[in-house]
Amino acid sequence: MRLRFAPSPTGYLHVGGARTALFNWLLARGNGGAFLLRIEDTDRNRSRPEHVEAILGGLRWLGIDWDEEPVFQADGLERHRADALLLLERGSAYRDFTPQEEFERARDAAVAAGSGAVTRLSRELAARVPAAEAERRAAAGEPFAVRFRVPDGSTTWRDMVHGEKRFANSEIEDFVILRGDGTPTYNHAVVSDDAHMTVSHVIRGDDHISNTPKQILLYEALGHEVPAFGHLPMILGPDGKRLSKRHGAQAVNSYEEEGVLPEAMVNFLALLGWSPGTDEELMSRNELVVRFTMDRVLKKGSVFDPAKLYWMNGKYMGRLGTRELAVRLRRTLASRPSPAEAYELSDDAFRRMTEALAPRSRSFSEMATLAAPYVGPVTSYDAKAARKSWYRNPGGVAEVLKRVRAELAVAEWESETLEQSLRGLAGDLGMGAGKVFQPLRLALTGLPASPGIFDVLLILGRERSVRRIERAIHAIASHAGPA
Ligand code: GLU
Repeated sequence: MRLRFAPSPTGYLHVGGARTALFNWLLARGNGGAFLLRIEDTDRNRSRPEHVEAILGGLRWLGIDWDEEPVFQADGLERHRADALLLLERGSAYRDFTPQEEFERARDAAVAAGSGAVTRLSRELAARVPAAEAERRAAAGEPFAVRFRVPDGSTTWRDMVHGEKRFANSEIEDFVILRGDGTPTYNHAVVSDDAHMTVSHVIRGDDHISNTPKQILLYEALGHEVPAFGHLPMILGPDGKRLSKRHGAQAVNSYEEEGVLPEAMVNFLALLGWSPGTDEELMSRNELVVRFTMDRVLKKGSVFDPAKLYWMNGKYMGRLGTRELAVRLRRTLASRPSPAEAYELSDDAFRRMTEALAPRSRSFSEMATLAAPYVGPVTSYDAKAARKSWYRNPGGVAEVLKRVRAELAVAEWESETLEQSLRGLAGDLGMGAGKVFQPLRLALTGLPASPGIFDVLLILGRERSVRRIERAIHAIASHAGPA
């Protein structure tokens, strides 16, 4: 098996392209085949070297490696031309000197006259130029397009996803293969290249289905073996419409920046249009390689659900050890603008924070956000939480916090003893523990939710905890106004 991914370098690697690359790669790796890359850079106006880099970078990040040197389509220009001339020589194509406007006028007239079929109109117009004259004009350097002479009959293939596909050739116009400026059209270049690269299986998005009959006709006319084709179902946004920018991030690298793990992204992409046939969802790359088959590719479009990606990512994060998590969290924090007052946590506190935040995080970006009150100051108190746990009874809460501060000033700084002393305090005050912990949590983090309160204390350390409690007591007093 020789498979390929053929991106046009006109932008970043988006999730649709990554999914196509992945399915080709899984099939190649699972069958001892080759996975090739072809950069379709013939559109000089839109192709950019930085996009090539972005696409290759996205594939590398996902761990989708390729065999052989990537092929650049523009390097094949001479062969594309030679193939078109070969078809011309064989009579499978013809020269078209008709200017575009003239063609359009003739087409409009034919349509107005009630002729539904205009797929052979260009052929009729070209036939008005006698062969000898066409030769002479071409030799004199007059530009012409080369059009494929679509044969009669129909074109069929067994699609690896959709099964039997049939197109009536009468519906397919005599399409241009070489433009007047000597550049090949997409269908022609792709066939010339796929044949040259001896690609055996073409797997791509189903937006290419209507190109496939044209390409099969070209293979046949050039005398090449026709590869197998499989067209992958559309990726849909949550509203059921084709995934597009409207639906938010589509660039694979934006997920990398969000701190999504490549293993999670690969797993998630594999399930966009493929199912293992069970309801298993978490599958490693190797498992996917072993289990992936084309007959389990779904025909219907599948919905891109970021919530599911983040859920999966949380699962994959949970499998990383604390050390690895900490390294990645540090990296994410370092990539963010640091607050004016950033705190250096001890290794021990950082490790504890990582362990405490990991179960609550579905990405490193989220984890870094949750880490904010520990690596920097509390800049505000959550208003709703403050109303609820401070301002209903400001005098009482301030008293509680003073007692907490007194306990913390002397308690042994260790999880169990801290717990004993704060629970003991709640008991002495005749309050539920939550009535002590909630106002304290808000004082320490500014937030209504956080890891366990003893973890929070240990991460912050005694000095910082006590200072934050004092600040909270002030805040509560100034909010309550002079008594
Ligand atoms: N360059 C084409 C695209 O990006 C892919 C062509 C193909 O896979 O045949 O849609």
